Amino acid sequence: MAASSQPRQATYDAIVIGAGIQGSFAAYHLAQRHRDTLLLEQFILPHSRGSSHGQSRITRSAYPRALYARMMPDSFRLWQRLEAEAGASLYRRTGLVVLGPVGNPELEGCRHSLGADHVLDATMLARHFPGLRLHTGEVAMWDDTGGVLFADRALRAVQDVFRRHGGTLRDGEKVLRIEPGAVLTVPTTAGVYRAPRLIITAGAWTGALVAPLGLRLPLQPLRINVCYWREREPGSPSAGRTSPCFMAVGLSQAPHGVYGLPALEYPGLVKVCYHHGSPADPEERDRALPGAPRPEVALLSSFISSYLPGLEPWPAVVETCLYTNTPDEDFILDRHPKFSNIIIGAGFSGHGFKLAPVVGKLLCELSLGEEPSHSMAPFAITRFPGVLRAVL
Ligand SMILES: Cc1cc2nc3c(=O)[nH]c(=O)nc-3n(C[C@H](O)[C@H](O)[C@H](O)COP(=O)(O)OP(=O)(O)OC[C@H]3O[C@@H](n4cnc5c(N)ncnc54)[C@H](O)[C@@H]3O)c2cc1C
Repeated sequence: MAASSQPRQATYDAIVIGAGIQGSFAAYHLAQRHRDTLLLEQFILPHSRGSSHGQSRITRSAYPRALYARMMPDSFRLWQRLEAEAGASLYRRTGLVVLGPVGNPELEGCRHSLGADHVLDATMLARHFPGLRLHTGEVAMWDDTGGVLFADRALRAVQDVFRRHGGTLRDGEKVLRIEPGAVLTVPTTAGVYRAPRLIITAGAWTGALVAPLGLRLPLQPLRINVCYWREREPGSPSAGRTSPCFMAVGLSQAPHGVYGLPALEYPGLVKVCYHHGSPADPEERDRALPGAPRPEVALLSSFISSYLPGLEPWPAVVETCLYTNTPDEDFILDRHPKFSNIIIGAGFSGHGFKLAPVVGKLLCELSLGEEPSHSMAPFAITRFPGVLRAVL
């Protein structure tokens, strides 16, 4: 039978734009509450153009900011629930070492979130992570809950459970614009959909999508070099498959922080990345000039030589991902200031994956007009000057 050339038309209880990890969890929570939900994704799934692709993300209890530390127990619990519902293993507990200069405020925040007895002496550090070198004036802490979330597998799992609860996922369908109203209209490249509530979780594309709604959000997409480093001695316990995750904060040579994960994705290659990148338009992400300098990779090479001498100091694999940063690196989770049935989740600033089950729950609660289960003040749109003045 010939395919109809008519665009699809349908009405739902809720529409979610963007099937990255945040939108997929928001849709999952809505479907679990028996709301007929449409999740729209511009690319055919799976894809690697946004922020949620790849094999691994770090999760942890250690957090420099108490507001996120308070959300983590809820997040661990919800990840476990998804594992049970999907019948999939999504998390591997490896432990996490946090290191930095004594007295550094971010490190102190992590120490506070963990408790003072988590400081590692030299013997304990050598036992947990023999390949990691500390320098004079630096200290390390141990987060026993730290580990790896299997990102691609997790995204698939949450989308599968969403569909099992009756949700509709349409990929390869780009939202062209949003027409506000008591019942919103959302035209896409293949249809026109309506719903009384809308959640926008469009990652690095969020700024462009909400601009016609009179919002100028201070969102900066960054292109991130995802680097994998070869072990000098394959299978060595010093920095390999059995190592914990780590994060280094407050180092003058790496002011935005460095993090690493064991060699799980490519045999013998340890993932070590700089927690920052270069400003990028998501549509032009791969247009870096050939041979252009990559300061983040040079910085990482120097970090590897100094802290992880068991690895070769040049990357064996470099992949690309996007962060979408806010000026304070806190998330945006809020209603549109004028159109209260439009909810926005954005600006996850490179640390949103582990918290996605809670973020999705909060976005769902906001969209249903329920009391959010965590304090929302730190995530308000109006904390940024100039955003409201631009509202239509
Ligand atoms: C290299 C790297 C390492 C990271 N490491 C960690 C970590 O260790 N721990 C951690 O907690 N977090 C980490 N993060 C951060 C985390 O991965 C992100 O915060 C999270 O994936 C953001 O998800 P998202 O759903 O907001 O964005 P995305 O995954 O980009 O999803 C947005 C989706 O919206 C779609 N979309 C956009 N516009 C439209 C439209 N008009 N119509 C339809 N669909 C549209 C896009 O195609 C995209 O699929 C890391 C990120 C990167 C890049």
